[in-house]
Amino acid sequence: MRFPLEVVRAVRAAVPAGRPILYRISGDEHQDGALTLADVCAIAPHLVGAGVDLIDVSAGMYETNWWITQPMEMPQGVLAPLAAAVRGHVDVPVSVSGRITDPSVAEHLLASGASDFVTLGRALHADPDFPRKARDGRTGEICTCIACNQGCSDMHARGLPIVCLVNTATGREREHAIRPAARRKRIVVVGGGPAGLEAARILAQRGHDVTLFEREPEPGGQMLLSRAAPGREEFAGHLPWLAAEAVRAGVRLRPGVEADAGAVLAQAPDAVIVATGAAVALPAIPGIDASPVVDAGAILRRPTAAIRRALVIGGGIRGVAVARRLAERGVEVVLVEPGDALVEDIATRSRRFQVDALTAFPHVAVCLRTTVEALGERSALLWDGAIRREVGSLDVVVPTRTLVPVTAVADALVARAPELDVYLVGDCAQPRTALEAIHDAAALAHRL
Ligand code: SF4
Repeated sequence: MRFPLEVVRAVRAAVPAGRPILYRISGDEHQDGALTLADVCAIAPHLVGAGVDLIDVSAGMYETNWWITQPMEMPQGVLAPLAAAVRGHVDVPVSVSGRITDPSVAEHLLASGASDFVTLGRALHADPDFPRKARDGRTGEICTCIACNQGCSDMHARGLPIVCLVNTATGREREHAIRPAARRKRIVVVGGGPAGLEAARILAQRGHDVTLFEREPEPGGQMLLSRAAPGREEFAGHLPWLAAEAVRAGVRLRPGVEADAGAVLAQAPDAVIVATGAAVALPAIPGIDASPVVDAGAILRRPTAAIRRALVIGGGIRGVAVARRLAERGVEVVLVEPGDALVEDIATRSRRFQVDALTAFPHVAVCLRTTVEALGERSALLWDGAIRREVGSLDVVVPTRTLVPVTAVADALVARAPELDVYLVGDCAQPRTALEAIHDAAALAHRL
């Protein structure tokens, strides 16, 4: 305790009387030999004695960084028990941080007595107006942090400037400030996934006349599938805000309308943004035409009866989500991934939760550094670089690995109206992460 107490006493001596000193402490570092909650409960009264006016409770350390910026796989308000315990040992206010992404969670923490204050970090990164909107009862307008960690923690860890997946102006406040368009254009957006919605929202806020066609009854594209992916449900939580903001800005949202080139041209647009996404492609594996291939989306969306054994091809988040869904239903799963690790397409802090949850099923076999050489009517030949082995009795084969851009509308528009400005954004330009898709769409929408 010597170092922190000397620091606090020196700060107290230097800071004018009446100005509070707030002390952030990890309530549990969750690491052998590091600070425990019992340690912190013993330390906190001494900090107060040295002059601290508020204890702000976080958790974790770099070795346990998922406790510092908790991923969406961890519950909201997860640090409440730590703050409550510390609060029982001091006579100054206690604040708590950690996955407080909704005003109702903040209110609950305060009402439950877990803390006297709440500390918001990423929630303000996603929406700096969170407190003002919460105070004014405009909670539906809050752009909610989904705890993806892709734009903030992961960028920070890579030494890159921090951005935000849900708020494309964060970190780019100057370039992405809403500026009125020099000339109001009639713009049609085809596809209501996150990239199409983000483009439409910004274009309308800049004063353009925007119509968005989405073939499904509900906008959201691939992001909607997250609702059915275990632990990833909050990912889809960005969609209602995005759609509502687009409508609020004046976008004519047309869900349930599959717009072909003719329907788009009938709008007499000045420009078209195509955001028709990507589809899972059948891998070029000999015998795949005869094998029992099932679409990954169908597995995630619908109950699937009479499956006893499944082969999942690809260990990205889509493959792991499919494997977990099947395993939950008692299906024996063989998951094949040619790379060295699973779920390398999500934030680092999320990976351990997805991998641990999947490998906890005794009836899931994960085969890394392995490819599928051939498929039969109910079998697969696997190759790990040393040994070939056959897996039989397969009821379904679920490819998840390869995405191909869906460009039919864009191709038809270019063919029929070569003079028209047609832009591709999101996965139909190049399948990538949602962060990249949304940010590319925003950059385009600020330029037009
Ligand atoms: S990048 Fe993701 S985790 Fe970070 S503040 Fe934005 S929504 Fe939250």
